[in-house]
Amino acid sequence: MRRIGLLGGMSWESSVEYERVINREVRARLGGVASADLVIRSLDFAVIERLQANDRWEEAGDALAAAAIDLERAGAEVIVLCTNTMHRVIDRIEAAVLAEVLHIADATAEAARRAGVADLALLGTRYTMEADFYAGRLRERHGLAVRIPSDADRAELHRIIYEELVVGVIDSTSRQRVVDMVERCVADGATGVIAGCTEIELLIGPDDVPVEFLPTARLHALAAVDRALAG
Ligand code: GLU
Repeated sequence: MRRIGLLGGMSWESSVEYERVINREVRARLGGVASADLVIRSLDFAVIERLQANDRWEEAGDALAAAAIDLERAGAEVIVLCTNTMHRVIDRIEAAVLAEVLHIADATAEAARRAGVADLALLGTRYTMEADFYAGRLRERHGLAVRIPSDADRAELHRIIYEELVVGVIDSTSRQRVVDMVERCVADGATGVIAGCTEIELLIGPDDVPVEFLPTARLHALAAVDRALAG
């Protein structure tokens, strides 16, 4: 089994789910009391969030690259960055380490392919929904159609993520608002929904939406197990 490095803390509310999913999956596959070989580097999200809000992505990328080097020095051979938004700076991380870095959008696209859905609503932070680093990869590398919620819905979702989900607040009114957003995307033609922020799957799940639900944190964590156990 190869050692997995979790680059997390963005926020830790979802990073802890990576640890849970990975360990449970390793036990299910290997049996007995087996669990994953993991190293975890968890950052102070206050620092990263400030860099995001001030559009200082290169500095955030340098901080993440340094943390990835820490993981590699601790023996990580497979690294997962436990946030969709910060994949905006994945190039800096990939350039800093020899370890394999698994892209969260690739794990998600693979699940969409398996489910046979190709017209996807992308939910996430404004950074993820509005820049091209995520939707562009889904379109260009994976041939998927990607649609995003309206401007008003994007603002509300961004608020729910940063004011509630990353600080552990799970609110039923917010859940209904996000479900309503998904339904508007489905009415426009979406056949699947990407929970493209690792905390969204803490708020809504497959039973809340009428189409295929793609939980990025869970899919990314399972992809890490695949790689750790491959060969
Ligand atoms: N965890 C979130 C994501 O997957 C948002 C927090 C962040 O900006 O990293 O995008």
